[in-house]
Formats: sequence, C-alpha cells, structure tokens
Amino acid sequence: MSTSFSDYLNQEIHCSCGRTHICDIDDIIIEAGALTAVPALIQKGGYTNVCLVEDTNTKAAAGEALKDILANAGIAASVVTLRAEGLLPDEYGIGSLLTHVPADCGLLLAVGSGTINDLCRFVSYKKNIEYFIIGTAPSMDGFTSNVAAMITDHTKTTYEAHKPKAVIGDLDILSKAPMDLIAAGVGDVIGKYVCLTDWKMAHLITGEYFCEEVEALVRKSIQKVSDAAMKIGSRDKAAIAGLMEGLVLSGIAMSYIGNSRPASGSEHHLSHYWEMMFLQHGEHGAWHGTKVGVGTVTALRLYQLFAEAELDFSALSAYTFDETAWEKAIACAYGTAAPSVLSLEKEVKKNSTPEVQNRLQALQTHLSEIKQLAKALPAPETIRDMLEQLGAPYEPKQLGVDRQLFVNSILYAKDLRNRYGLLQVLYDTGLNQKFAELIADELYK
Ligand SMILES: [Zn+2]
Ligand SMILES: [Zn+2]
Repeated sequence: MSTSFSDYLNQEIHCSCGRTHICDIDDIIIEAGALTAVPALIQKGGYTNVCLVEDTNTKAAAGEALKDILANAGIAASVVTLRAEGLLPDEYGIGSLLTHVPADCGLLLAVGSGTINDLCRFVSYKKNIEYFIIGTAPSMDGFTSNVAAMITDHTKTTYEAHKPKAVIGDLDILSKAPMDLIAAGVGDVIGKYVCLTDWKMAHLITGEYFCEEVEALVRKSIQKVSDAAMKIGSRDKAAIAGLMEGLVLSGIAMSYIGNSRPASGSEHHLSHYWEMMFLQHGEHGAWHGTKVGVGTVTALRLYQLFAEAELDFSALSAYTFDETAWEKAIACAYGTAAPSVLSLEKEVKKNSTPEVQNRLQALQTHLSEIKQLAKALPAPETIRDMLEQLGAPYEPKQLGVDRQLFVNSILYAKDLRNRYGLLQVLYDTGLNQKFAELIADELYK
C-alpha cells in the first residue's frame, strides 16, 4: 500500500497530545517516473533561475535524465556538478557549491541523498531561497528534516536550516541505488524500535513530553520497512517504495515534534560517538544508517540484558556523583571533543547526585512497565539477520570499531546530549560497565 502524503503536509494537526503539529513541505512524490513531475512543481511554485546540483555519481543516476526533462518542458537550468570523490557536507563542500551557484539562483534542485541534500539545504537556507530534493538513494531519514548535519572544524554539528519544498523519490532511480546505501536506509528506520522505547521510558521517568500519534506514525514507518525487508535486497520497486516511505514518514514525525526525539535514541548516540571518534582520526567510517543499524543491534542486546537484570534499589540510592573521576574518563573517551561534553554536564547536571536519585526512584515505580517495553522489542538476532541478509554490517568490528571504542560508547555516548534513554538508565543503575564488557566478550572473541 503506497502512502499519500497530502494528509501529513502543510496543514495544522491539532493533536490529542495538546500540541499542534505541522510539516511545511508542499509535495512528496514517491513513485516510478516521479522525476517527470519536477517541471510542474517548479511552475506551480513560480520559481525562476533554477540551478540543478549534482555530483559526478548522481549525474549519471538522475542528473542527466532530469536535465532532459527540464529542457523538454522549456525550463532553463544552470548546472553545478560537484566531484563525488571526497565530497562531504563540510566547509570545502559548502565553498565548492557556493563558488559555482549563480548569484541570482531562485531554486536549488538537489540531485542526491545524504551529502548533496545537506549541502543544498544549508546553502539554500543561507541564500534565502528554496530547494527540492531529488533523492537518488533511500539511505537516511533526513530528506524532510529542517536541520543540516554538517562537519565543521572536523566535528559533526547540526545547523539550523529549512526543509525542502518538495521531496521526489523516483522508484526507477532509487531501486538502482548502491545496495550499501539502501541497506543504510533500512538501518536508519529499524533503529526507531529503540528510539521509541527510549522516548516512552523518558516520558515515564522524567515526565518528558510524549505524543502517541507521532509514536504511531513512527511505528508505521518501521512497519513499512519490516514488511518490505525480505524484498529490498532484490530491488523490488514496491519494497523500495516501502523503504522510502518509511524514511519520509519518520522525517515527518521529527518535524511534527520539532526535534529528532521520535527518530533518534541510544542507537543514534552510539553511532554518533563512533563517528566522532572516526572524524578525530581523519576517517568518516560507514554511512550514517549503516552505523545506526549496528547501534540498533547493540542497543537491543542491552535492552534484553536490562529486562533480565535484578536491581537493588536500596543499594543504588547511595549513588553520589564522582565528578572528578567522570571528567577524567570523559577527557579520555572524547579527546578533543571533551570540552563541549563537560560543559553540557555543567549546564544540565544529568549525572548529578539528586538527578540520578530522582530518576532511580521513578525507575523503581515504573520498573515492571519498562521491562515490559524492553521485552516487547525484537530480539537483536532478528535485526542482525535482516542486516546480514542485505550484506550490511551488523557488528561494531565490521565498522572498524575496536573493543575499547565499543565499551566507551556504551559508557559515554549518552553524554553527547541531554536526552534520557537506555544508556543513561544503565549508568544510573550501575549496569553499564558490566553490560558493556559482557557484550564486548560476545563480539570480540
Ligand atoms: Zn501530538
Ligand atoms: Zn538517523
């Protein structure tokens, strides 16, 4: 069943959660031949001086075909072709794009996925013009996001930007994408199992805002991808449509909430930590969704262990925050990124004695409910098999994550952000080191 996105777009949804949700994207078209819809969307928006942005890979995948379609419709477009090799959403990529974009450009047509999408989103925002994303691979859920994930000063940073006015997913193009990118998209969606559990748990423990409608939307996204999973490897177009729709739905869920909470939890924190450490060594590692897939298998195993754990709350209530020891460990685990992690803790005090003790009390109250949530999750083996069947990595060492980095990620990835989830629960309950070593023993034989 394909999804019509018109129900989700450009209208205020007065939700049972008490908030109003909105996703200000004009059009999302996911179908075979969707590329041919672009001229009508340009005309509808009244855009002039269109500039098509591609790289040397996406040029062949979709750029050339789109140029023909525009020419046949009588739309003149300038073209910027960036070199694909080494292209990143960093200062050099931004500079390359800005160097070649005409000053009077009125609309960017971004032909690509991760990097091209982030670069065009960022540059169009800075130039105060709109952009369309013409996806070439169903590789991540950021098509409908309003933030740009950039690398500046060798550090991954999220910048405020805007959403595309149109998302085009032509199944004839998406189904021919490299399989590692398709599998990365699967990884990004199946991670939502963990995100939703983290979010629900945060709602129970810290009283954080939670929306059941948005949760249902993300569940729909997961369902689409798990239904399609068996046929994604054979590039079945209906299955690829399910994947792309799943990615877009979870993007819409994020825009409804205004941040990534419904679509980024402990599995993303693990992935971000690995990525940060790779960047410090001048490497970029695997695709975002590939790392998230591995983070998901890890997080599911941690949830499985937590569901079985016995907790002695009277012993735990003696917790006191040894700030000096923690700061030392962070300096070690984060290297050059440590100062921002330390200043975040100074600001939010998530590891402080009263904060942890308060959360432990709430955890004791809601423990059986939380264990039920953990038990309702799929087994790590189920997701591992799904990834393996697509030829994707499913263990951290396949990403180049060594044992120490893996253990550190379970212990400290949570300190990257102030977002309560499984990794913070394991810290609060003192189970983090034991579980990290236990899983490391399973994975690094
Ligand atoms: Zn709501
Ligand atoms: Zn993601």
